[in-house]
Amino acid sequence: MGLLLLRYGEIALKGQNRAFFLRKLRRNVRRCLKANGLEGEVWQEGQRIYLETGEVRPAVEAVKRVFGIVSLSPVQVVGTPADGTHPNLAAIAREATGVARRAGLGPARSFRVRARRSDKSYPYTSPQVEEEVGAAIVAATGAPVDLSKEAGLEIGIEIQTGRAFVFGEVIPGPGGLPLSSQGRVVALLSSGLDSPVAAWLMMKRGCGVIPVHFSTSPAQTEQVEALVEALNRYAYGWSLKLITLSHEEVLAPVLAQLRELHAERWTCLFCKRVMLAKAAEIATDMGASALVTGDSLGQVASQTVMNLEVISHGIEKPILRPLIGMDKTEIMDLARQIGTYQASTQASHTCPFLPDHPLTQARVEKLEELLARMEGTGGLPGTSKKGSQGR
Ligand code: ATP
Ligand code: MG
Repeated sequence: MGLLLLRYGEIALKGQNRAFFLRKLRRNVRRCLKANGLEGEVWQEGQRIYLETGEVRPAVEAVKRVFGIVSLSPVQVVGTPADGTHPNLAAIAREATGVARRAGLGPARSFRVRARRSDKSYPYTSPQVEEEVGAAIVAATGAPVDLSKEAGLEIGIEIQTGRAFVFGEVIPGPGGLPLSSQGRVVALLSSGLDSPVAAWLMMKRGCGVIPVHFSTSPAQTEQVEALVEALNRYAYGWSLKLITLSHEEVLAPVLAQLRELHAERWTCLFCKRVMLAKAAEIATDMGASALVTGDSLGQVASQTVMNLEVISHGIEKPILRPLIGMDKTEIMDLARQIGTYQASTQASHTCPFLPDHPLTQARVEKLEELLARMEGTGGLPGTSKKGSQGR
């Protein structure tokens, strides 16, 4: 059996709600194990979550994708000797030497020891522990000590009441908040690079994401399905179920009206409005409180603040845009890191409805004029359902 120590960050600050967040987190870790066919026992003690399992490596690979986990370490446990209340320092040094050897430490690689005590009654201070354990490792491996961050290996020691943990690895997790600890959102998922990253960032903040895609071809739908599958690798506590609608069907009535009014330049703006209005309806039906898009300011010529105002005007749900201030390179790096990059760049699906000169600086007054002229031509997709039915 092996033991994993799971660290969480922000949740520790949650005051009265801490117990709620931690319950969700432990539940999501258990779901993650189950989803990956792994056995393990998960429990909480003090500020840490522990996971005991016979399958340490596969568990590390899976649990490092559970939102809320900041980092994890497989640990060796040094228990309390029968005759005392404190773990024996020589035993800690022996265990640490073993961890260093297994990590391949030798004369060609530097190391440092970092100790912390949550049991302040331990008879040695943290620097004393570091010095003692460091000396034992030098004697056993001949490795040089480097106290800076540049050290080739860091051996961690945590001393608690009655036991100590020794570890040589700190594996980063995604951080954030446990999935399903916040409300639901509808994420508009295109087949491109940005919107899956936006959806992932909302998952990271604990939201249950409902992905909606407006498809122009089976190939595009397939690409979005692959993206949802990639996102579902993180979906412990809420799984994403894609809703696909026909882009053409949703857009056709508006396109006809725009053509009639010679306002084709507004196509992209109305297209976005129609998608958002439809997504808002879905959100209401599914108990979601907000919409999410992958807009990033200025990334394409049409992503101006003016256009965003026009696109958002009258939409009945708040529209969250987690990428709004990010650079393209930052978004690409994140896409690679979370595993959506490949599916996003499989093929680029150019929009069949793109007009010759799409508006880049649309104005709300003009939108309202246009909407008023559209009234006579029938229904009014693209504004709120209530508004259009009331006319
Ligand atoms: P992405 O990389 O996500 O495709 P983009 O930079 O290409 O975004 P736009 O095409 O202007 O930008 O789309 C802005 C946002 O509108 C997208 O991030 C997405 O949230 C939503 N969106 C665009 N097309 C679709 C679609 N076919 N289905 C669902 N949502 C879409
Ligand atoms: Mg796109």
